[in-house]
Amino acid sequence: MNKVSVLLTSKWSWKLLEEAERWGIQRPEECLSCGACVGACPAARTSSYNFRKIIRDVILGNEEKVLSSREIWYCFYCFYCTSKCPSRVEIPYFIMRLRRMAMERGYGGDILRILVYTSSNLIEHGVSVLPSDYDRMNPISAEENMVKLREKLGLPPVMRVSEKAMEELRTIFEETGFRKEVEGIRSGKWPFKGISEKY
Ligand code: SF4
Ligand code: SF4
Repeated sequence: MNKVSVLLTSKWSWKLLEEAERWGIQRPEECLSCGACVGACPAARTSSYNFRKIIRDVILGNEEKVLSSREIWYCFYCFYCTSKCPSRVEIPYFIMRLRRMAMERGYGGDILRILVYTSSNLIEHGVSVLPSDYDRMNPISAEENMVKLREKLGLPPVMRVSEKAMEELRTIFEETGFRKEVEGIRSGKWPFKGISEKY
């Protein structure tokens, strides 16, 4: 006989679910554990990322396990999952808030160092990845190829963003507090610990 495991609501921890409600995030408690989000998710295809497991741990109250894990850093906010979820759970927004909570507890340092690097590019040049960064991502002479290719096409080594667009970006970075936040992380304001590889 097949065993069916039912997660009784009496065993739920409502703490993070109530936080989610306070943040205005819709319906994480209505997850059916159907896995449609995982099947659709491009990040899940190339990593161990599985939102269904994350939401299960949230419901079980395994807060520290979720916040200290690498799992919450794989999503890149494409929002494809939200169109597939039958319960319309706002997965990317939920992940966004979990990351914030993780940061406040000092987790995520090594991931944030990468994000701060690309964010600094964005603040300075208006693009997050420069051609000269490609060698870091693909050390097999990718930078040389990219730079040569741009040269052949008569393009400058760095993409140029118009001054008007840069002005708009600068306003957004100031008004949202993005620039301050990036500078804070760069200056070591957040004493980050490593994240757990096991989940
Ligand atoms: S928003 Fe995140 S969780 Fe949803 S499909 Fe995209 S990468 Fe996956
Ligand atoms: S698609 Fe929605 S209901 Fe299904 S597992 Fe993902 S979050 Fe839960």
